[in-house]
Amino acid sequence: MKTKFFLLACFFCSVGLMAQNMNNVRIAGFTRDNSRKFIHVPNLMGYKTLKCDFHMHTVFSDGVVWPTVRVDEAWQEGLDVIAITDHIENNPSKKFVGGDDNSSFDIAKPHADKKGILLIKGAEITRKMAPGHFNALFITNTNELDTPNYMDAFEAAKKQGAFIIWNHPGWKAQQPDTCKWWDVHTELLEKGMLHAVEVFNEQEYYPIAFDWCDQKGIAYTAASDIHGLVQNQYDLNKQHRPMTLVLATENSESALKEALFARRTIAWFGQYLAGKEEFLREFFMASVKCNLMSENTKEKVYRVSNISDVPFLLKSADGVSIKIAAYSESMVEIPLTSNGTFEVTNLFIRSKKNLSAKFPF
Ligand SMILES: [Zn+2]
Ligand SMILES: [Zn+2]
Repeated sequence: MKTKFFLLACFFCSVGLMAQNMNNVRIAGFTRDNSRKFIHVPNLMGYKTLKCDFHMHTVFSDGVVWPTVRVDEAWQEGLDVIAITDHIENNPSKKFVGGDDNSSFDIAKPHADKKGILLIKGAEITRKMAPGHFNALFITNTNELDTPNYMDAFEAAKKQGAFIIWNHPGWKAQQPDTCKWWDVHTELLEKGMLHAVEVFNEQEYYPIAFDWCDQKGIAYTAASDIHGLVQNQYDLNKQHRPMTLVLATENSESALKEALFARRTIAWFGQYLAGKEEFLREFFMASVKCNLMSENTKEKVYRVSNISDVPFLLKSADGVSIKIAAYSESMVEIPLTSNGTFEVTNLFIRSKKNLSAKFPF
């Protein structure tokens, strides 16, 4: 009897082995699935909040990745919009890769279309200070911006309908001891050739640039200026890359362009937001909800939910500190002696002005 069972088992085993391909066996689930993270930010004031990074490089200037990699990174991280902004005047890879100043966009565009990432055509005008470095977005032919005189490059960009951002104004390689607004920046502003500034770039921010945005009516932006892989620069398990949130009527190039020229932006970097007071207030109020849970003779206890990936750090003039954690619920105790007025210390309108808000929100 035992022998019969043994023979039967051998028979079924051999049938199983025969069914298996001996040449090539793929292990299901062994490689990373092609999933996309959600970035949690509220839509505001009837607009869609687009998550955008308008500054990055590829092998077509001094970056180290192929243009399609930038699209895959943006897809995985949950971004809606990117602009590849290779340096026009600085291309150390030129002797190894062919093409012209339009190549990185031309290579990435079909891949971006396939993945549903809005790829904006851009380039970095790369000059010594002053005026410094600028990203021109929505251009149509990058080669026309490659001119000996920098003002001719700005003229060409303007003629193509560009939205122009002053990049990393306080970068120490160009302004080692200061972050100065030069006369040429006033000239560019007056000629309609300067529309925004990076208040944050890669890993640093320039508080004085918040004041420029407020005083000169230019848009707040934040960008990665990534040259290597995003995952090597930022810990994506704990944070998002820096980005500009744009309040647009829809996710399309024309709506994005309209929103940028209307300056409907918020710069987001780490736990900080910088932007116009009305947009920061809307963002805060749309993110946070308070529920009173209990009350005694000393304090009120609230459960505060936050649907955004931005934490909120609050401090009152009478010394009460509150942390509302990102995308979670927090228990918050407010002493009855508190008048309920708080500064949101990680939300900047100007270098020395935070958003203020009255509790309960
Ligand atoms: Zn630069
Ligand atoms: Zn750059």
